[in-house]
Order: sequence, then C-alpha cells, then structure tokens
Amino acid sequence: MSDDRPAAALFASVVDQEEAIAQLRAAAAAPVHAYLFRGPSGNGGFAAALGFAAALLCPDGGCGECATCRGALAGTDPDLHIVRRSGASISKETIRQIVNLAHRRPLASARQVIVVLDMHLVQDRAPVLLKTLEEPPGDTVFVLLADEIVPELVTVASRCAQVPFPPVPRDVLVRWLTATGVEPDMAAVVADSSGGNTERARVMVDDPDVSARVALWASVPDELTTSGMTAAAMTRRVLESADRAVEPLRAVNARRLEALTEAAREMGERGLPGRKEIVEQQQREERRFRTDALRAGLGVLARTYGALATGAGRANGGVSPADPGVQAAAAAVGLITEAAQALPRNPNETLLLQSLFVRLAALAA
Ligand SMILES: [Zn+2]
Repeated sequence: MSDDRPAAALFASVVDQEEAIAQLRAAAAAPVHAYLFRGPSGNGGFAAALGFAAALLCPDGGCGECATCRGALAGTDPDLHIVRRSGASISKETIRQIVNLAHRRPLASARQVIVVLDMHLVQDRAPVLLKTLEEPPGDTVFVLLADEIVPELVTVASRCAQVPFPPVPRDVLVRWLTATGVEPDMAAVVADSSGGNTERARVMVDDPDVSARVALWASVPDELTTSGMTAAAMTRRVLESADRAVEPLRAVNARRLEALTEAAREMGERGLPGRKEIVEQQQREERRFRTDALRAGLGVLARTYGALATGAGRANGGVSPADPGVQAAAAAVGLITEAAQALPRNPNETLLLQSLFVRLAALAA
C-alpha cells in the first residue's frame, strides 16, 4: 500500500460516494464504535459497509488481498455479522439478536463488525439498542444502514458517526455507465429512471426493455386521447411492463441464492442457514424494485406533460400560465405527482393507475 490507509480496491464496487469513502478510509485506523450510513439502499452504502468491514477486520488494516479481506467483501467472514430484518420491520427478536452478537467475542480478528440493514424500519424498538450503542463491548463496531433518519431513529443516530450516501449525480451515473460499455442513449435513459441509485442502474442496463418502457410511458398522453385507448387497457400495459422490469433482478437474485447455497454446502451445511429469510428479503427487494419502476414511469409521464405545457404555451406565442393547455398540463403533472407519492402505500396499484389515467384523459378532453 502506498499509505497506511486501507486499499482503495476495497471500495471498488462503490460508484462515486468519494466523500463517504474518504471518511471511512480515514476512520479505519481508529474507528468509533458505531457508524450510521444514511441513504437509500442501492446508493452504495452496503458495498461500502463490506469494504469498511474488511478494513476493520484485516490484520493489515485492509490490504484488499488476504483471506479476511476477501471474506469480508463477500460477506462471509466469521467476524462480520450481517443482520437483515425478517419481516416488514426490525423485530424485537432481531434487536435481541443484535445485542447478543455485540457481546460475543471475535473469532479470528481483533474485533468484530455488525452490519444492520434497514435501520429506518426499527419502529419503537430503537431504545433497546441504545444501551449497547452507548456502552459497546470494546471489540465490536456497528455499521447501521438507514434509508433516512426517521423520528424513531434520531436518538440512535446521535450516538453514531454519520456517513451520508446521497443519490449519485446524473452526469456521474451517465459517465460510469458509458465507461462500463453502455451506449450513451441507453445510459441517459437509465440515469433518468434510476433516481441516482447505482444498484438499480446496474440491473436496468441488463434490461433490453428499458427504452421500450420509457417510450410506453411517454406515449400515454397521446394514446389516451388520440387513439382513445381506455384507462384500463393502458393500466394493463404499464403494469405488464413493470413486471418485465423486475425479471433481470429476479435472475440476479436466483444466482445469488444458488451461490450462497453452494457456499453453505462447501462449509458442510446440509441446507442454507436462514434460507427462508434470504428468500423473503429478495421478494421484498423485488416488490420495491417493481414499485420503483412504476414511479420512474410516472416520472417520465410527468416530464412528458411538462414538455406539453411548454409546447402549448409556445404555440400561443409564449408560455402563459393562463393558457388552457398550460393549465391542463400543469394539472396533469399535479395528479401524476400525487399518484407517485401514494403508490408505495397503496395496495391497489391497478385502481390507482386506472383512476389516474381516467382523470388525465378527462383533462385533455
Ligand atoms: Zn487484508
């Protein structure tokens, strides 16, 4: 290594996030007992947590080459504990499991690392964890990952060193995608629809359907008015396209599950420990991905109506807020934004989209 900081290679799979990585590489030599990585999953927090764990567990401070480093990066080192929730929130049992883990002694390294995913879903169970975070066993380092600091997490967050993982800027994402061989047009579409989320972008580039999906959503205003397609038919088409969007992720997850099962077999296990939890985790990830695909589609639709508003204004010699076309388009954007916000909480997306399309068609009439 050129300096005594952990090898940069440990963070090679994290796209951008230079500030976070600099902070972690500087912290590795003298870590505090708890870190909170803040940002939507897929922004690189989990990959950075594995790199950071390698730096903390490796006898050479993160050489990037030894068995400990490789084990940590793969998430299989015995002193790296990755805790995932097993239901819709972090259960009491999971919290108890974390507290118990914290009081174990490391097996092979000088310390152990406990990575907890989805801490924003801790609900009212955070106080149980506080004591452990405040008086941590000396050789345990916590890395908590949270999409955001929800009110229930504020006190826990105040006990941690915070490391932000913001969305990756669009131009950085486009540059990264083109550097990995993605065509510039495709890179732009993927960057637009992935919300600065690199994990999602990575999955989307394998999806031949991305451009078609963007085109489908952009065609909604025309299809609903000029061709008279019904709201129900349009809803069916966009939902089918969202289903197809999840297929590449399903393939990735199936390969991951197979690799884990294989690794467990090599370790002499008869089955994969925690298989049910992993499968449930993957299903949740797939459901969220599908919702995100629909939200990205609604984003394309809102931009399309936004462009229509500008176009309508221009046709009348300048964009005037009083122009009926501009007003209708602005109202459409409002309805779409509302639907996008309601989507993750709404159990009946068919009804939600159908009623949106009915209202959009009525606006244009
Ligand atoms: Zn190493």
